[in-house]
Amino acid sequence: MIPLKAALKIIAGMHYSPDTEMVAMAQAIGRVIAGDVVSDVHMPPFNKSAMDGYACRKKDLGGILEVIELIKPGKAPVKPVWTSQCSKIMTGAMLPENADCVVMFEDTESIGENRIRIVAESSSPNVCLKGEDAGPGDILLAEGTRVKAQHMAVLASAGCFMPMVYKMPRIAIISTGDELVEPQEPPGISQIRNSNAYQLASQVNRSGCLAEYVGIVKDRKNELKETVLSALENNDVLIVTGGASKGDFDFVPQVLEEIKMKILFNKLAIQPGKPIVFASNREKFCFGLSGNPVSSFIQFELIVRPFLDKLTGCKIKPVYLKLPIGKEYSRKVADREMFFPVKITGQGPVIPVEYHGSAHLLSLSGADGIANIQLGQHTIKKGTLVDVRLI
Ligand code: AMP
Ligand code: MG
Repeated sequence: MIPLKAALKIIAGMHYSPDTEMVAMAQAIGRVIAGDVVSDVHMPPFNKSAMDGYACRKKDLGGILEVIELIKPGKAPVKPVWTSQCSKIMTGAMLPENADCVVMFEDTESIGENRIRIVAESSSPNVCLKGEDAGPGDILLAEGTRVKAQHMAVLASAGCFMPMVYKMPRIAIISTGDELVEPQEPPGISQIRNSNAYQLASQVNRSGCLAEYVGIVKDRKNELKETVLSALENNDVLIVTGGASKGDFDFVPQVLEEIKMKILFNKLAIQPGKPIVFASNREKFCFGLSGNPVSSFIQFELIVRPFLDKLTGCKIKPVYLKLPIGKEYSRKVADREMFFPVKITGQGPVIPVEYHGSAHLLSLSGADGIANIQLGQHTIKKGTLVDVRLI
């Protein structure tokens, strides 16, 4: 049994270099940028009005101003403003020469044709200066960034309409167990519905990878071996759920060894989720996760997700929240690092949700995150800050 940290180190040491491809900008959401996105323009590209109002020189504020031009967005001004002059200007339009501030309409009054008076003082010049956000050559999105909605605006502004991204790794998912039926089938006596495959496929998809669900394999070693081999042909990674521990019908570790995959770890000091196999032949990678839905979910979040981040080229580390625990949490045995589902309450503290073991999948559906209690630690006192990873 090795600690989580040691397992993460093994995973981080795996060699994999993802291929790249160009995609249409609209398809880039969720993908990882494969080369720095660099600006080819000043942002903003010219001194720009931030308000609808009158552009003038600061030194002329206070007096009466003559309006000499109307400047629309998209039209270059033609007249410089001189002493006691201003140009009527709209938000987003280019400032006329000599102007260094914009007085918003609300702070002015008209006193006859083409003449205004300023009636209130503004603390802001209401001008966005050319290049104040970025200039040509500046890195706008670093290689390794996973594209979110707000990054789409950056790609568009940089004219990066065909960004270079990393290819999505292909991840096969197999469920094993004689007791499993698919959700569309009525479970017979002593049978349960296969829930893990669908949970895992969604976890894979939200990690920016392509999930290929293979199906349920019965607890028969040869059948499992054949399915594993064929799944590995077309995929980079295989995740098997169930059959990974020490029961009479837990064939995953044996099958991986028989197909010449080297087992790099097979037990982790985490709770839930102790039985987890990670194996590789350097080219392909296999995870054997627990069959219990909470264990499989947590094993994925702790181990598989960081590995998939590596495969997708993502360099952004997940954010953990440090939040106070709303009530004392304790346990009797502390030989493993424990992870438990929590709900984040409106005012900040996290409350452990009802959770009675690794088969209790409903506990996760009401949770916002997973908190942890360190190996060797028995109690977390109310008010102590705990690390929460959002799920
Ligand atoms: P195993 O890891 O095969 O020993 O299974 C542990 C527990 O998880 C057993 O109670 C199984 O019935 C259950 N289980 C296994 N696979 C799945 C699955 N795909 N969906 C839901 N429960 C499962
Ligand atoms: Mg089983």
